[in-house]
Amino acid sequence: MAKVRFGPAGLPVFPFEGGTPEAMAYLRDEGLDAMEVEFVRGVKMRADTAGRAGSEAERNGISLSCHAPYWINCAAKEPAKLKNTVRNLMETARAADALGAKVVVFHPAYYLGRPGGEVMEITLRTLREVEERMAQEGIRGVVLGPETGGKTTQLGGLEETIELASALSRAQPVVDFAHLHARGNGWIKGKAQYAEIFEKLEKGLGRKAVESFHSHFSEIEFGEYGERNHAALGSLPKHSPDFRPLAEVLVENGYSGTVVCETPMLDMDSRKMRRIYEEAGKRA
Ligand SMILES: [Zn+2]
Repeated sequence: MAKVRFGPAGLPVFPFEGGTPEAMAYLRDEGLDAMEVEFVRGVKMRADTAGRAGSEAERNGISLSCHAPYWINCAAKEPAKLKNTVRNLMETARAADALGAKVVVFHPAYYLGRPGGEVMEITLRTLREVEERMAQEGIRGVVLGPETGGKTTQLGGLEETIELASALSRAQPVVDFAHLHARGNGWIKGKAQYAEIFEKLEKGLGRKAVESFHSHFSEIEFGEYGERNHAALGSLPKHSPDFRPLAEVLVENGYSGTVVCETPMLDMDSRKMRRIYEEAGKRA
């Protein structure tokens, strides 16, 4: 049976107080069942906190993922930056392992004026090294999740993340709908574009890609070069992109996976998304 999980990118907003372990029961009480743990400014969680958060997540039926630091660039020009990228991905993978999280989300690379093919090659080399290290350390339940990027200066088109996932042995694309929308200068108009995304995933990676997809959703402001700001659900004069047609595509095709809410309203907007999804289910 199709199941879509919903939850915030990071700790719930006010009035929640507490840390990652305490968030799990709170999210369950809100009717949510996922959370992305944010390591975007570095992996600083203590091992005992991670262990406690992991068992709380399991007890409350919350499925976890982790977001690696923002400054990662798998095709950095300087060797020191490449080394840092591998180190940061490994730190996030270890934390994910301790938390019982599956997907390690990251923005794969920046072109820095180079051709896409060259950047893809360097990115793959870097990620193969990370896969090897994960295997050496016995990290088996974790997969690498290259995310679609909101800026045209980033390697991170849908096709590129599919290519990365199919060339690697432990990877799955992370679809950030707002980023694809911004990257394509307001590309998502309705159901047709959402459907196209899932069709491409299935064609490129098989049915499993749409039965355990991982995604981010937010409304967004964008300009000539793509993403500018994330915005709350229904906050823009013109919803952009609109979550409702996505809910319909998910319901009508029986896709399963996770939608992480990246709006400033985090868990509050996750609950709205869940409600819209459930209403679409009743209409179908
Ligand atoms: Zn995202």
